[in-house]
Amino acid sequence: MTAQPEPSHSSEQVGPADPEHDPRASYALDQAYARSLTNRVVSTSGQTVPTYSPISGQPLAMIPQSSEADVREAFARARHAQQAWSRTSLEHRSELLLRLHDLVIERQDEILDLICWESGKARKHAFDEPLHIALTARYYARTAHDHLDTERKLGVVPGLTRVEVNHVPKGVVGIISPWNYPFTMALCDGIPALLAGNAVVTKPDAQTMLSALLGAQLLEEAGFPSGLWNVVAGPGRELGTPIIERADYICFTGSTATGKIIAKQCADRLIGCSLELGGKNPIMILRDADLDRAAEGAVRASFSNAGQLCVSMERMFVADQVYDRFKALFVERVRGMALRPGIEWGSDMGSLISQDQLDTVTAHVQDAVAKGATVLAGGNARPDLGPFFYEPTVLEGVTPEMTCFGQETFGPVISLYRFHDEADAVSRANAGEYGLNASIYSRDTKRARAIARQVKCGTVNINEAFGATFASIDSPMGGMRESGMGRRQGSEGVLRYTESQSVAVQRLIRFAPMFGMKDETYAKVMTANLRLMKKLGRA
Ligand code: NAD
Repeated sequence: MTAQPEPSHSSEQVGPADPEHDPRASYALDQAYARSLTNRVVSTSGQTVPTYSPISGQPLAMIPQSSEADVREAFARARHAQQAWSRTSLEHRSELLLRLHDLVIERQDEILDLICWESGKARKHAFDEPLHIALTARYYARTAHDHLDTERKLGVVPGLTRVEVNHVPKGVVGIISPWNYPFTMALCDGIPALLAGNAVVTKPDAQTMLSALLGAQLLEEAGFPSGLWNVVAGPGRELGTPIIERADYICFTGSTATGKIIAKQCADRLIGCSLELGGKNPIMILRDADLDRAAEGAVRASFSNAGQLCVSMERMFVADQVYDRFKALFVERVRGMALRPGIEWGSDMGSLISQDQLDTVTAHVQDAVAKGATVLAGGNARPDLGPFFYEPTVLEGVTPEMTCFGQETFGPVISLYRFHDEADAVSRANAGEYGLNASIYSRDTKRARAIARQVKCGTVNINEAFGATFASIDSPMGGMRESGMGRRQGSEGVLRYTESQSVAVQRLIRFAPMFGMKDETYAKVMTANLRLMKKLGRA
């Protein structure tokens, strides 16, 4: 017999505030508006598939599907547009990015409505998406010259060898993105690709095409020329290969399993790729943490977008000395979270995206409970709120034989563990194959920074969940180990879309014996030069 989770003990995890007026009843997307988005898909196949709102299970729109011939057409358009685009100035590209920034702010309500409809997430979590795009657009517009200007380098012969490095666009970048942050994941990696002079062919996840298409519409309204940003739609298994076969670079965000398939295909063509993959992220609450602050941050760390966030936390290590006090504060906050269906402000957590996600979360919790874990909060699906709602869930007593110990749940489930010394906490945080994001709460930020250096994760947030690194666009973001390859954001986030081209002008002397000099004498002169340069301290 399978043990069932205990009741949630929740007083606030409730449905619509006013049960007489269930907002789900009024959900219907204006079809003319939907068509203004869906007609942006490059599609001649004549096939369409419906997309559904996870809030109500109702269909939202019919999405035209792209065939392999449509992918070919998308790349042809992109190649044509890229030629003229690569000759535009950085000033012009930056100006368009700043217009995109303004549009995202002006059209924020429309963007949030669509994200909520399509993903089912709470509006406050949807807000992170236009926020991230505005930050990314502004950052790259304002720093374009820092990353992309031609750079002077040291020439081998001082004064006589002049060397410059150009950052040449790759050409056409293929972007394959997931459903969890459908607006920002579809756009954020494309912004630096465009800035560097590339065109883009993008395949967003089939479940969240509308948010990605709204992004495409905003790019066009900002003034990016037609053909520069091309959207294809269809299953990744079918369109992935035709995209990889034609692209000059692939930017992929999604699961580690798919990332490995994509890396192999890119290796076959010797094209570069960046892979932003999964995580099983640790949060550490040290004995000197501000416990109220840590409990508040831990809620956001664990339950933003119902835990369907690559950088969200699924393992919490708490110092022995404060374990009981922290646990009480954290569990009280989780039990007080308001779960409400709908797209309005006021909900602390929304729905999962799909039945698949609900099945995974349910299976992980049931497995843990059956093997002896304790449910401290949540632990139940909530069909009364919507087809895929699941309560924010806190587990204790999770052991290695339980699925959720090491596997990514990608849902609203966090496991609490006690630690006795910090070295032990670090080694447990580093266990497993992933290395995406970590969080450390401590009043001693110097000690926390020293601990951060021992954590094998691409980002570490101190006294914050994930936003401090993710929103600091100047710093690179990405995973170590099986959490990824390459980085988005910062210089690395734009230079990945360029080829470095070194150009050297040589004056007066050549790299060969001159004036009848013998090879042996030439070698001696050059060797004497090597010694001299070292003495002079030259690099
Ligand atoms: P997924 O790998 O199943 O799908 C992601 C994208 O890849 C979708 O567009 C899908 O259509 C496409 N795809 C699927 N199979 C493909 C194939 N064989 N070839 C080419 N494309 C293919 O991932 P998912 O389950 O939808 O997304 C959740 C995962 O993404 C989680 O593991 C999460 O941690 C990860 N994620 C990582 C980041 C990050 O920045 N590191 C951000 C968001 C999500």
